[in-house]
Amino acid sequence: MNLKDPAQRPCPVCGNSSVEVLHHQKFIVPDGYLLPDRYDVVWCTRCGFAYADTPATQEDYDRYYAQSSKYEDNATSTGGGGSGFDQKRLEDTAAAIAEVLPDRSARIVDVGCANGGLLGVLKQLGYDHLLGIDPSPACVRNTEQLHNVPAVTGSFRQLPANIGTFDMVILSHVLEHVADLATTVRDLKALLTPRGLLYIEVPDASRYAEFLLAPFQDFNTEHINHFGPSSLRALFEANGFTATRIGQKEIESSPGCPYPALFGFFTTGAATAAAEFQPDEKFHQQLLSYTTSSRAKIQAIDQRLSQIDSPSLLVWGTGQLAMKLLAETSLAQKQIAAFVDGNPINHGKTLRGIPIIAPEQITDAQTPILVATLLHQREITARIREDLGLTNPLVLLE
Ligand SMILES: [Zn+2]
Repeated sequence: MNLKDPAQRPCPVCGNSSVEVLHHQKFIVPDGYLLPDRYDVVWCTRCGFAYADTPATQEDYDRYYAQSSKYEDNATSTGGGGSGFDQKRLEDTAAAIAEVLPDRSARIVDVGCANGGLLGVLKQLGYDHLLGIDPSPACVRNTEQLHNVPAVTGSFRQLPANIGTFDMVILSHVLEHVADLATTVRDLKALLTPRGLLYIEVPDASRYAEFLLAPFQDFNTEHINHFGPSSLRALFEANGFTATRIGQKEIESSPGCPYPALFGFFTTGAATAAAEFQPDEKFHQQLLSYTTSSRAKIQAIDQRLSQIDSPSLLVWGTGQLAMKLLAETSLAQKQIAAFVDGNPINHGKTLRGIPIIAPEQITDAQTPILVATLLHQREITARIREDLGLTNPLVLLE
């Protein structure tokens, strides 16, 4: 067991700083990237929470999400609705909300609303007092234009003035991104009416191993908190809420890629004493199993990469898996002619000093293309062969 005391970032649930290191994660990040290129994923020995012991502050994350949000590109991101798999996820969530809050005149705010997809579905269900809040001005525009729901820029930390209180506050796939977790949870009370409800949805770390597709997929630069059912409950109960329902669900992280999520409904209640924290050993084992199988998968990928004998490569993808492979496999030693990325927000940037270009800018038909993603391997392969008609040799990760 690899113990560390003190952690750089004390446990965001209980404040303890004596932790067990589960995994050391490194990334090669795009030049000028606003988040750190390494951290330890740790397990709090006192309360059993799992999180990234990152040196980045809440301000660093605020700046990152305001300036470089991938969620703005509505054609390729989730949270906007519009694609079949994303729409199904949003409809299921809206139905669960309507079950506990049937009153269509209820005031509902979605904090971190991305492109407003969930609010759009709630509007279709007849809710008419809706508000979206997102740090990205482009997401605010998309929420208003795509779904006709009012939205304002801000975050759970910088709430717009005079927005009042709400019968329901939604934070869907937000808390895994938040550095100051306990403060955030306590501050949510100010947004709620006395009998208001919180709807929280986060990735389910207790099932990362069961749904493993890309190695260490959730140990990425953006997800810094890893919840299991017991630690989601502990976080809220320690900060003055009562869980009325906690459940597990499956969503899709990209078409055909199932992904485990955890949701909870909470009302305000009495805070429980910190002494009641009970580390959940089963969750600990589930996380260890995830790191073991992810490591095996990285090794299998490295094996494939080490067999590439071309002097130069085009690397399609600059996302989380590409950043890890560049840091931790023989891809680090390859001659990379260019990175290719479908998201316009990345075009013109550089990674290791090498340009990131748009797919349409590939002019060389000889250099092999490494498809540096597992989650989007199928769509990208189709794009290369069918849409772009490129005949370059392809290297796939599996
Ligand atoms: Zn803790």
